Amino acid sequence: MRGTMNEDVYPVGLERVDETTVRVQWSDGEEQMLTGEDLRNHCPCATCREKRSAPPPDPLELPIVGDSPTVGAQAIVSMRPVGNYAYQVTFGDGHDTGIFTFELLRSLAQK
Ligand SMILES: [Zn+2]
Repeated sequence: MRGTMNEDVYPVGLERVDETTVRVQWSDGEEQMLTGEDLRNHCPCATCREKRSAPPPDPLELPIVGDSPTVGAQAIVSMRPVGNYAYQVTFGDGHDTGIFTFELLRSLAQK
């Protein structure tokens, strides 16, 4: 269950905890930890949305070597403000097309 969202809430502090974790301080005093895994799993860009909704491409489950090390895809390289409503997150594998609104960021911590 999500509580009511105050639209005036915005981040007042971002602090890197480790390679894959960032602590966010919000203007209403709340603090939350954001992980690269959560961010990546909820990346709102078209590429990631497609990936998540795509059916399994190969029913044989042949062994593969992954596109990139998991920790790379889940590492948070940077978070930069976009306007006054969102952050652009760059992941360790160079993925940076996801724009995370404050509301989305906030929701990731309230599950
Ligand atoms: Zn994405």
